[in-house]
Amino acid sequence: MTGPIFGHIPGYPVGTRFENRAELAKAGVHRHIQAGIAGTAKEGADSIVLSGGYEDDKDFGDELVYTGYGGRDPVTKRQVSDQPFDLWNHALARSSLDGLPVRVIRGEGHRSPFSPHSGYRYDGLFMVEEYWQETGRSGFGIWRYRLRKLPDQWIGEDAEHSGTRDPDTPPNAAPRRQTSVLRIVRDTRQARGIKKLYNYRCQMCGIRLEAFAGPYAEAAHARPLGAPHNGPDTPDNILCLCPNHHVLFDHGGVSVGEDMSLIGVQGRLTVHPRHRVSKEHLRYRREHYRVDA
Ligand SMILES: [Zn+2]
Repeated sequence: MTGPIFGHIPGYPVGTRFENRAELAKAGVHRHIQAGIAGTAKEGADSIVLSGGYEDDKDFGDELVYTGYGGRDPVTKRQVSDQPFDLWNHALARSSLDGLPVRVIRGEGHRSPFSPHSGYRYDGLFMVEEYWQETGRSGFGIWRYRLRKLPDQWIGEDAEHSGTRDPDTPPNAAPRRQTSVLRIVRDTRQARGIKKLYNYRCQMCGIRLEAFAGPYAEAAHARPLGAPHNGPDTPDNILCLCPNHHVLFDHGGVSVGEDMSLIGVQGRLTVHPRHRVSKEHLRYRREHYRVDA
């Protein structure tokens, strides 16, 4: 079994109905046959199923407060111990740290006006906005996650072939979408690959931020995505930066010269031997966002 697959599963648009968990698993929409959360602590969670298992869950439609797994008696379903911060609970936190979209599936057992009357329904991509521990109604510690639905729910990559694209857009440019969704698209496979290559260390200052659930870094595009810049979402256009340097880079406080020296701050851009950074894209950033360089 391969790792988690983030985003929509081609062929299963938002609203797709499934008879049971086996069908969901076969489609790859939620690949764990029993657990409510699918994914790994290292890679993140790619989907959750709301099936009414936890008394503390809340469902406001586009916003959810979801309770993690564990600590329940398998027979009575009562909470009998604290939920651990491992496996799938850790996985959802990892998704939050990396800004990964989570597929949400509602099941008939879920006590909510948004639930289907029977079977399961894929309800689209949500972001894990925050996560925290609290004492549940049972008196035991539970992990909670606030998820918010992404505003623009396109149907997989099909949207790229719908004929709505600007004819001037180069074929490898990321499709134009709303800003919030663009941020999500940025943190897709390409961006994660770059973060992993640098082990989440900033290419400008070497800092690696350690959150409770693991390291945190941001993927910065040298040539911005979206019209009229039309930067590609490809590794040669992506840098792994700490939040401070990402902000400085985006707002012209720092730029990268032809020789990879930093402009605006001391130092040089660290470049991994397996990372071919496009000088052309760095030049675009320099010429449009730091015009004195
Ligand atoms: Zn930095």
